[in-house]
Amino acid sequence: MPHGFSPAHLPAPLPPGHRFPMTKYALLAERLRVDGWAVAPAPLAEEADLARAHDPAYLAAIERCALDARAERRLGFPQSPELVRRSKASVGGTVAAARWALGHGLGVSLAGGTHHAFADRGEGFCVYNDLVVAARTLLDEGAVGRVLVVDLDVHQGNGTAAICAGDERVVTYSVHGARNYPFVKEASDLDVPLDDGAGDRAYLDALERTLPALFAAVAPDLVLYQGGVDVLDGDRFGRLTLTEGGVVARDRTVAELCRAAGTPLATTLGGGYHGEVARTVAAHAAGLTAIAAVLAA
Ligand SMILES: [Zn+2]
Repeated sequence: MPHGFSPAHLPAPLPPGHRFPMTKYALLAERLRVDGWAVAPAPLAEEADLARAHDPAYLAAIERCALDARAERRLGFPQSPELVRRSKASVGGTVAAARWALGHGLGVSLAGGTHHAFADRGEGFCVYNDLVVAARTLLDEGAVGRVLVVDLDVHQGNGTAAICAGDERVVTYSVHGARNYPFVKEASDLDVPLDDGAGDRAYLDALERTLPALFAAVAPDLVLYQGGVDVLDGDRFGRLTLTEGGVVARDRTVAELCRAAGTPLATTLGGGYHGEVARTVAAHAAGLTAIAAVLAA
């Protein structure tokens, strides 16, 4: 039975009409429970683990809700103690999923993928960078020697790339819209930019052309996957045109590479801003179900 960790029990208050789809987390957790998944409440991340990715001054400012107005605008969320707890649970869920993956082959964080968080600042709805925290926690513990971050959210994993630049233990890979946010890109170890409007064929071709070779060259001990579904046609912030079947094929490609190499896989949700939140939830559920089927086979 697949096992997921969710922070849906700790929603952060947002003003009416806010663009962030806070409801998707509880809806997805409930949907997977109905399908027979075990979904546990995500634990809060440890302070010492957050410090593996972030500067002390930034962590202190977040903790005290003391970001200045400009920093808060860049983050995209109003500060609150609830947001801090929710964000720590999002990271804790990814750390727990990564540990679970090492023991069981697949671990699922039903949040996270907050790849726009830098060492010293948050951006684009990302307070902490759960991918870097999870990677470095397991690396520092000696549980793994090399981690590959596969970031297939439609937006470039700029924070992850920036924090991990010069950290040879973490290899970063990002497939994203070339002209989409973030408009100033950071250098991942391998970036695969796509044109606006790219659909299933162009996307899957680009993935097949680049990921298997990188995977073979890196031979990771763990893959952290950012499986944002903002690649879907109709996503408000996406600009690509993938179908739900395309998302499933994308996610299956990642899972099959892991299965063939015997590499543990921990997944995170990333973005998804379809006008109908049900479409976002359905795409996440379909992708995760496909991943679980591959790794259970
Ligand atoms: Zn995104």
